[in-house]
Amino acid sequence: MTDCLFCKIIRREIPATLVYEDEHIAAFNDIKPQAPTHVLLVPKRHIESLNELSIEDDSLIGELVRRASAIAAERGLSVRGYRTVFNTNREAGQTVFHIHLHLLGGRPMAWPPG
Ligand code: AMP
Ligand code: ZN
Repeated sequence: MTDCLFCKIIRREIPATLVYEDEHIAAFNDIKPQAPTHVLLVPKRHIESLNELSIEDDSLIGELVRRASAIAAERGLSVRGYRTVFNTNREAGQTVFHIHLHLLGGRPMAWPPG
């Protein structure tokens, strides 16, 4: 995807503060953080939303979730707690159509979300 914002970040065409990268996934700070820790974890392969996932993507999504947990642990959030969110389509507030897992932590959070 040439004009996808997160593909451009992955290709280093747009700057971002990367906090993790490997062969399959990348993680960078959200530009408009909603908590002291607000990291976005993305697959390097362009997938628009959870609606486009197939069984072949199971390990990729597992990598995203386990890496979110590892970043939370590095930041001392495992016991305090943290939130992980995938927004899908309009009513959930998805604005960037390249799957991303939000990792939020470092402050108390309300439930239900808005
Ligand atoms: P969502 O609303 O779930 O699609 O989340 C998109 C997220 O991307 C929002 O939290 C934005 O603040 C974030 N975002 C938008 N542009 C950038 C950027 N250039 N670098 C990092 N995060 C961004
Ligand atoms: Zn993309």
